Amino acid sequence: MVSAPVIQLRPATSPARMAPNGKRFFIWTIGCQMNEADSAKVAAMLQEVGYRRTEDENDADIVVLNSCVVRQASEDKVAGKLNALARIKRERPGMPLVLTGCMVTNQQDALRQRFPHVDLFFDPSDFGQLRRVVPELDDLDDDLADLPHYYAPESLGLAGQAGVTAYIPIIYGCNFLCSYCIVPYRRGQETSRPLADIVREVEGLVASGVREVTLLGQTVNAYGRDLPGEGQLPALLRAVDAIPGLERLRFLTSHPKYMSDEIIDTMGELDSTCEHMNLPVQAGDNEILRRMRRTYTRDLWLDRIERSRRVMPGCTVATDIIVGFPGETDAQFQQTYDLLADARCDKVHLAMYSPRPGTLSARWEDDIPQEEKSRRHRAIEALQEEVCTGLNAVRLGTAVEVLVEGRAKGRWTGRTRGNTLVHFDDDRELLGKLVDVHVTRTSPWFLMGEPAGLPR
Ligand code: SAH
Ligand code: SF4
Repeated sequence: MVSAPVIQLRPATSPARMAPNGKRFFIWTIGCQMNEADSAKVAAMLQEVGYRRTEDENDADIVVLNSCVVRQASEDKVAGKLNALARIKRERPGMPLVLTGCMVTNQQDALRQRFPHVDLFFDPSDFGQLRRVVPELDDLDDDLADLPHYYAPESLGLAGQAGVTAYIPIIYGCNFLCSYCIVPYRRGQETSRPLADIVREVEGLVASGVREVTLLGQTVNAYGRDLPGEGQLPALLRAVDAIPGLERLRFLTSHPKYMSDEIIDTMGELDSTCEHMNLPVQAGDNEILRRMRRTYTRDLWLDRIERSRRVMPGCTVATDIIVGFPGETDAQFQQTYDLLADARCDKVHLAMYSPRPGTLSARWEDDIPQEEKSRRHRAIEALQEEVCTGLNAVRLGTAVEVLVEGRAKGRWTGRTRGNTLVHFDDDRELLGKLVDVHVTRTSPWFLMGEPAGLPR
């Protein structure tokens, strides 16, 4: 077994942690990275007041579910999990069951009726509400908002933020109104955090061993537009890049409309910003983009990708696609297919359209049959397999820099600066190290190789 290094994750500014109180918390999260960051914050709050994490809801003293409603399938999963927890609630009625995330709206009556066994529905922008079921939080005198987003040391080795990488929300909400999207209704208007707060949080994380930070927002590159005089994303990137010890800086998700030359050029100029562009296009047909209310054209997206690749040679690209939007004809779908065949993205987050009550497009007929949505989904999956096979094949024989994030199936696993997964064997303790890996095998979804040189 690999023993995790002792990484002290508490920045100097945070309040003193209380002694363990024997209580355990269980957190279940689905959805986007913002939810992961919010769950990490809830975990941090509970750990500060003496709780420990458990992976088994049956022996938890509090259960928190962090929900997503971006598609019907995610909403169904949350409902399924909530119903499954009804048994535990019957056996231990005193155990608080808490629901947060995008399923929670201002009108909670309907939720209360549907899930009467839930003790607290809390809006993810108001962590203080947790005090209603965790009285120990009253003893934390510092503002809860000042607690950083991290997993504390006991969780080292869990998926994701193993103390090596961290997600940091920098802007909440969204000012767009894409016709299919529920997010603005659940997360409100864009609200950027002050630049100095973010820098302080990253400094604390880096001081405790974090080497890669991902700045988060639904429209992360709109950062600062609501903070007159503070400087926007380029200024924040510069300020974070200047923090000694931070190896890698990423940010997601960007909106094509705000992906300015200045942002791309700043990424090219700074050492820590990774050569990776996360830029959802959603569709390749201009008429569909117009009805999606995306406010840009296919050419604008392509132009942003091309500039990124010029400014950052080898820059990888991730995008999001929705297939089966209302009225999407075969020819319009083909535009999306052709765009992806042209652009050769390293990663496509693919979704079948799902009407969300309350959004504009939910008023239009969901007229693409399920089988046709599935067919389009499979067509793009097959295309991506081919594209990614080719993109990774050319990496055979090269050396890639890997930040080691953990172990999976007996191997070390990490990512390149371009966000490609890499697995390799090594008996040494390498968690959190940068390792040059000589690529000896490739697949569409990951690289395998042998370490070369000294870990850093
Ligand atoms: N702010 C990001 C996306 C947030 S939602 C952006 O502007 O791209 C995350 C992804 O879920 C979206 O990119 C979209 O591909 C998908 N999605 C959102 N609403 C959806 C819906 N109604 N049906 C299917 N997929 C949807
Ligand atoms: Fe949703 Fe559009 Fe806002 Fe992204 S930009 S969160 S897709 S409304």
